[in-house]
Amino acid sequence: MAIIKVSNLKKSYGELEVLKKISFEVNKNDVVAVIGPSGSGKSTMLRSLIHLEEINGGSINVSDEYLVKDGIYSKPQEIKHITSKMGMVFQHFNLFPHLTVKENLEIAPKMVKNETKEIIQKRSSEILQKVGLSDRATAYPANLSGGQKQRVAIARALMMNPEILLFDEPTSALDPELTGEVLQVMKDLAEEHMTMIVVTHEMGFAKEVANKAIFMDDGEIIESGHPDELFINPQFDRTKAFLSKSL
Ligand code: ADP
Ligand code: MG
Repeated sequence: MAIIKVSNLKKSYGELEVLKKISFEVNKNDVVAVIGPSGSGKSTMLRSLIHLEEINGGSINVSDEYLVKDGIYSKPQEIKHITSKMGMVFQHFNLFPHLTVKENLEIAPKMVKNETKEIIQKRSSEILQKVGLSDRATAYPANLSGGQKQRVAIARALMMNPEILLFDEPTSALDPELTGEVLQVMKDLAEEHMTMIVVTHEMGFAKEVANKAIFMDDGEIIESGHPDELFINPQFDRTKAFLSKSL
C-alpha cells in the first residue's frame, strides 16, 4: 500500500533544473535509502515532501491526500494536516540551543495544545529512554556529543507521532565513531516498522536496513530497486560509477 506517491516532480532554481520529473512510491513500513552524488537533488526532493521547498510541477500524494497536484498546492490547512504526518531529521540536528533536551522534545507538542502537559511529559521520558538519553534530559545541546544531539533530534521528531520519518544525511556531520549509535536508533525504528526515507552515504546501513534504494543523479532517478539488486547488479553506468566509489 503506497503511503507516498510522487509523480513527475519538477523543481528549478531560476534556470537550474534541480528535479526533473521525479516519480516514486513509498509503501507503508518501507525503509527507502536515497543515494547519489552531492548536488543530485536528494535534499531538495526530501524537503519538498514536507513542504520546506515548493515545487514547480508534478504531484505529491501522502496517504491519499494531495499536498500538491499537477503543480497546484492544496489549501494551507490541508498542507498542515499532510505535513503533520511526517517528521524530519537534518544533517546538522537543528536543535534549539537555548532549550534543554527535554524542552526540545516538548516544545512542538505543547504548541499544538491538544494534549495535557502530563501526557507530553510522559511521552518525552519514554522516547528519551528509547533513544538511550534518559540521563541527559536536562542537558543543553552544547553539552552533548554529535551522536547524542542527533538522537535528540530523532526523539524530537518522534514526539509528534509521525507516520513517516525523513532523514537527510543524519550521520554525515558526525565523527565516524558516533555514527553507530545513531544508525542503531534508526535500525530500531525500522524494526518497529516505521516508514522511513533516508538520504544517506552509509551503504552498509542501506544494505542492511533498507528494502528499497533509489539512486539519484543530476535531478533524476536513474534506477531504483531492492538494495541487494541495485548494489550488486546496477543496470546503468552512472549507478555503477557511483557505487564503485561508495561501496
Ligand atoms: P543533494 O542533497 O543531492 O546534495 P541538493 O538538493 O541540496 O542536492 O541540491 C541540488 C542542486 O540544487 C544543487 O545544484 C544545488 O546547488 C542547488 N540548490 C539547492 N538549494 C538551492 C537554493 N536555495 N538556491 C539555488 N540553488 C540551490
Ligand atoms: Mg543534501
